[in-house]
Amino acid sequence: MRPVHRIYCVGRNFADHAREMGAAPADPEARGRPVFFLKPADAIVLDGVVPYPPGTRELHHEVELVVGLGRDAPHGELTRAAAADLVESCGVGLDLTRRDLQADAKARGLPWDIGKAFDASAPMSALVPMADAGDLASRTLTLEVNGERRQHGALRDLIWDVPDILVELSKLYRLRAGDLVFMGTPAGVGPLAVGDRFRASLDGVVAFEGAIAPPAGSG
Ligand code: MN
Repeated sequence: MRPVHRIYCVGRNFADHAREMGAAPADPEARGRPVFFLKPADAIVLDGVVPYPPGTRELHHEVELVVGLGRDAPHGELTRAAAADLVESCGVGLDLTRRDLQADAKARGLPWDIGKAFDASAPMSALVPMADAGDLASRTLTLEVNGERRQHGALRDLIWDVPDILVELSKLYRLRAGDLVFMGTPAGVGPLAVGDRFRASLDGVVAFEGAIAPPAGSG
Protein backbone atom coordinates (compact mmCIF):
# COMPACT_ATOMS: atom_id res chain seq x y z
CA MET A 1 0.00 0.00 0.00
CA ARG A 2 1.16 3.52 -0.87
CA PRO A 3 2.32 5.55 2.21
CA VAL A 4 -0.68 7.32 3.73
CA HIS A 5 -0.60 11.11 3.67
CA ARG A 6 -3.84 12.18 5.40
CA ILE A 7 -7.11 10.53 6.40
CA TYR A 8 -10.13 12.69 5.64
CA CYS A 9 -13.49 11.52 6.98
CA VAL A 10 -17.03 12.49 6.02
CA GLY A 11 -19.81 12.71 8.61
CA ARG A 12 -23.56 12.30 8.02
CA ASN A 13 -23.29 11.05 4.45
CA PHE A 14 -26.18 8.57 4.64
CA ALA A 15 -29.62 9.97 5.52
CA ASP A 16 -30.54 6.91 7.65
CA HIS A 17 -27.42 7.35 9.82
CA ALA A 18 -27.90 11.14 10.10
CA ARG A 19 -31.42 10.41 11.42
CA GLU A 20 -30.22 7.81 13.95
CA MET A 21 -27.73 10.40 15.28
CA GLY A 22 -30.55 12.92 15.73
CA ALA A 23 -29.65 15.22 12.81
CA ALA A 24 -32.35 16.68 10.60
CA PRO A 25 -33.21 14.51 7.57
CA ALA A 26 -31.14 15.53 4.57
CA ASP A 27 -32.94 17.73 2.05
CA PRO A 28 -31.55 16.70 -1.37
CA GLU A 29 -32.44 20.14 -2.76
CA ALA A 30 -30.40 21.91 -0.08
CA ARG A 31 -27.78 19.51 1.26
CA GLY A 32 -25.54 22.31 2.49
CA ARG A 33 -21.90 21.39 3.03
CA PRO A 34 -20.55 17.98 3.99
CA VAL A 35 -19.20 17.46 7.52
CA PHE A 36 -15.44 16.78 7.51
CA PHE A 37 -12.98 15.68 10.16
CA LEU A 38 -9.53 14.05 10.06
CA LYS A 39 -7.77 11.14 11.68
CA PRO A 40 -3.97 10.83 12.02
CA ALA A 41 -2.35 8.63 9.34
CA ASP A 42 -0.91 6.37 12.04
CA ALA A 43 -4.43 5.49 13.27
CA ILE A 44 -4.62 2.89 10.50
CA VAL A 45 -4.66 -0.77 11.55
CA LEU A 46 -4.11 -3.35 8.82
CA ASP A 47 -3.77 -6.53 10.93
CA GLY A 48 -7.25 -6.34 12.51
CA VAL A 49 -5.98 -6.10 16.10
CA VAL A 50 -7.65 -3.09 17.76
CA PRO A 51 -6.89 -2.47 21.45
CA TYR A 52 -9.93 -1.05 23.31
CA PRO A 53 -9.09 2.68 23.51
CA PRO A 54 -8.72 4.60 26.77
CA GLY A 55 -11.07 7.33 27.96
CA THR A 56 -14.36 5.83 26.77
CA ARG A 57 -17.14 3.46 27.79
CA GLU A 58 -18.79 3.61 24.37
CA LEU A 59 -16.59 2.51 21.47
CA HIS A 60 -18.75 2.45 18.32
CA HIS A 61 -18.27 0.91 14.88
CA GLU A 62 -18.99 2.77 11.64
CA VAL A 63 -18.37 0.72 8.47
CA GLU A 64 -17.33 2.91 5.54
CA LEU A 65 -16.11 2.93 1.95
CA VAL A 66 -12.48 4.09 1.82
CA VAL A 67 -10.96 5.58 -1.32
CA GLY A 68 -7.24 6.16 -1.93
CA LEU A 69 -5.81 8.93 -4.08
CA GLY A 70 -3.02 8.07 -6.52
CA ARG A 71 -1.82 11.50 -7.56
CA ASP A 72 -1.52 15.06 -6.30
CA ALA A 73 -4.35 17.42 -7.21
CA PRO A 74 -3.56 20.71 -8.91
CA HIS A 75 -4.03 23.81 -6.76
CA GLY A 76 -7.56 25.15 -6.58
CA GLU A 77 -11.07 23.76 -6.89
CA LEU A 78 -11.44 20.51 -8.81
CA THR A 79 -14.06 19.62 -11.38
CA ARG A 80 -15.93 16.34 -10.82
CA ALA A 81 -14.01 14.76 -13.73
CA ALA A 82 -10.63 15.88 -12.37
CA ALA A 83 -11.63 14.65 -8.92
CA ALA A 84 -12.60 11.21 -10.21
CA ASP A 85 -9.23 10.95 -11.99
CA LEU A 86 -7.38 11.22 -8.64
CA VAL A 87 -8.95 8.04 -7.23
CA GLU A 88 -6.61 5.07 -7.50
CA SER A 89 -8.05 2.47 -5.16
CA CYS A 90 -10.82 1.57 -2.76
CA GLY A 91 -11.41 -0.57 0.28
CA VAL A 92 -13.48 -0.83 3.44
CA GLY A 93 -12.69 0.52 6.88
CA LEU A 94 -14.13 1.22 10.31
CA ASP A 95 -14.36 4.83 11.49
CA LEU A 96 -14.08 3.81 15.15
CA THR A 97 -15.64 6.42 17.42
CA ARG A 98 -15.55 7.15 21.15
CA ARG A 99 -19.27 7.97 20.98
CA ASP A 100 -19.57 9.25 24.54
CA LEU A 101 -16.75 11.75 23.98
CA GLN A 102 -18.12 12.78 20.57
CA ALA A 103 -21.61 13.29 22.01
CA ASP A 104 -20.22 15.46 24.82
CA ALA A 105 -18.22 17.52 22.28
CA LYS A 106 -21.31 17.99 20.11
CA ALA A 107 -23.40 19.05 23.09
CA ARG A 108 -20.80 21.64 24.11
CA GLY A 109 -19.98 22.89 20.59
CA LEU A 110 -16.42 21.55 20.83
CA PRO A 111 -14.28 19.83 18.16
CA TRP A 112 -14.72 16.07 17.60
CA ASP A 113 -11.02 15.17 17.69
CA ILE A 114 -10.94 13.22 20.97
CA GLY A 115 -14.00 11.24 19.86
CA LYS A 116 -12.66 10.39 16.42
CA ALA A 117 -8.89 10.82 16.03
CA PHE A 118 -7.37 8.32 18.47
CA ASP A 119 -4.82 5.49 18.29
CA ALA A 120 -5.98 2.51 16.18
CA SER A 121 -9.23 4.31 15.24
CA ALA A 122 -8.99 3.42 11.54
CA PRO A 123 -8.80 -0.35 10.97
CA MET A 124 -9.17 -1.09 7.27
CA SER A 125 -8.77 -3.60 4.47
CA ALA A 126 -6.12 -3.68 1.81
CA LEU A 127 -6.86 -1.27 -1.03
CA VAL A 128 -8.01 -2.63 -4.40
CA PRO A 129 -7.37 -0.86 -7.74
CA MET A 130 -10.47 0.99 -8.92
CA ALA A 131 -10.32 -0.95 -12.19
CA ASP A 132 -11.00 -4.15 -10.19
CA ALA A 133 -13.87 -2.68 -8.14
CA GLY A 134 -16.34 -1.92 -10.93
CA ASP A 135 -19.07 0.68 -10.50
CA LEU A 136 -19.06 1.73 -6.84
CA ALA A 137 -22.66 2.96 -7.04
CA SER A 138 -23.78 -0.65 -7.46
CA ARG A 139 -21.84 -1.85 -4.39
CA THR A 140 -22.91 -2.37 -0.78
CA LEU A 141 -21.17 -2.26 2.61
CA THR A 142 -21.73 -4.82 5.34
CA LEU A 143 -20.46 -5.14 8.92
CA GLU A 144 -20.91 -8.28 11.00
CA VAL A 145 -19.99 -8.44 14.70
CA ASN A 146 -19.67 -11.93 16.24
CA GLY A 147 -21.38 -13.32 13.13
CA GLU A 148 -24.44 -11.04 13.34
CA ARG A 149 -25.15 -8.33 10.78
CA ARG A 150 -24.98 -4.87 12.38
CA GLN A 151 -24.74 -2.53 9.37
CA HIS A 152 -25.62 -2.84 5.69
CA GLY A 153 -25.96 -0.01 3.20
CA ALA A 154 -25.90 0.72 -0.52
CA LEU A 155 -23.36 3.19 -1.91
CA ARG A 156 -26.02 4.56 -4.26
CA ASP A 157 -27.54 6.08 -1.09
CA LEU A 158 -24.51 8.30 -0.36
CA ILE A 159 -25.71 11.91 -0.08
CA TRP A 160 -22.33 13.09 -1.45
CA ASP A 161 -20.62 10.62 -3.83
CA VAL A 162 -16.83 10.30 -4.17
CA PRO A 163 -16.32 13.05 -6.81
CA ASP A 164 -18.69 15.36 -4.87
CA ILE A 165 -16.64 14.89 -1.70
CA LEU A 166 -13.28 15.42 -3.44
CA VAL A 167 -14.59 18.63 -5.06
CA GLU A 168 -15.70 19.90 -1.65
CA LEU A 169 -12.38 18.90 -0.02
CA SER A 170 -10.49 20.68 -2.81
CA LYS A 171 -12.12 23.94 -1.70
CA LEU A 172 -10.48 23.49 1.72
CA TYR A 173 -7.28 21.44 1.26
CA ARG A 174 -4.83 20.48 -1.46
CA LEU A 175 -5.40 16.78 -2.04
CA ARG A 176 -2.30 14.61 -2.39
CA ALA A 177 -1.25 11.15 -3.48
CA GLY A 178 -1.62 8.94 -0.43
CA ASP A 179 -4.67 10.70 0.95
CA LEU A 180 -7.48 8.39 2.08
CA VAL A 181 -11.13 9.37 2.40
CA PHE A 182 -13.53 7.51 4.73
CA MET A 183 -16.85 8.20 3.04
CA GLY A 184 -19.36 7.98 5.89
CA THR A 185 -21.47 5.22 7.43
CA PRO A 186 -24.98 3.85 6.95
CA ALA A 187 -27.36 3.28 9.88
CA GLY A 188 -26.78 0.64 12.51
CA VAL A 189 -23.78 2.00 14.39
CA GLY A 190 -23.34 0.43 17.80
CA PRO A 191 -20.98 -0.66 20.57
CA LEU A 192 -17.92 -2.90 20.44
CA ALA A 193 -16.50 -4.67 23.51
CA VAL A 194 -13.24 -6.47 24.24
CA GLY A 195 -13.37 -9.87 22.56
CA ASP A 196 -15.83 -8.86 19.83
CA ARG A 197 -14.89 -10.09 16.37
CA PHE A 198 -15.84 -8.04 13.32
CA ARG A 199 -15.94 -8.61 9.58
CA ALA A 200 -16.33 -5.58 7.30
CA SER A 201 -16.87 -5.88 3.57
CA LEU A 202 -17.21 -3.83 0.43
CA ASP A 203 -19.32 -6.62 -0.92
CA GLY A 204 -17.88 -8.47 -3.89
CA VAL A 205 -14.67 -6.42 -3.78
CA VAL A 206 -12.74 -6.76 -0.52
CA ALA A 207 -13.27 -7.59 3.16
CA PHE A 208 -11.28 -7.68 6.36
CA GLU A 209 -11.66 -9.26 9.78
CA GLY A 210 -10.45 -8.29 13.19
CA ALA A 211 -11.16 -8.18 16.89
CA ILE A 212 -11.21 -5.80 19.84
CA ALA A 213 -8.26 -6.62 22.08
CA PRO A 214 -7.74 -5.69 25.74
CA PRO A 215 -6.53 -2.11 26.30
CA ALA A 216 -2.93 -1.50 25.27
CA GLY A 217 -0.60 -2.06 28.21
CA SER A 218 -3.14 -4.06 30.21
CA GLY A 219 -1.54 -7.44 29.51
MN1 MN B 1 -17.96 7.96 10.13
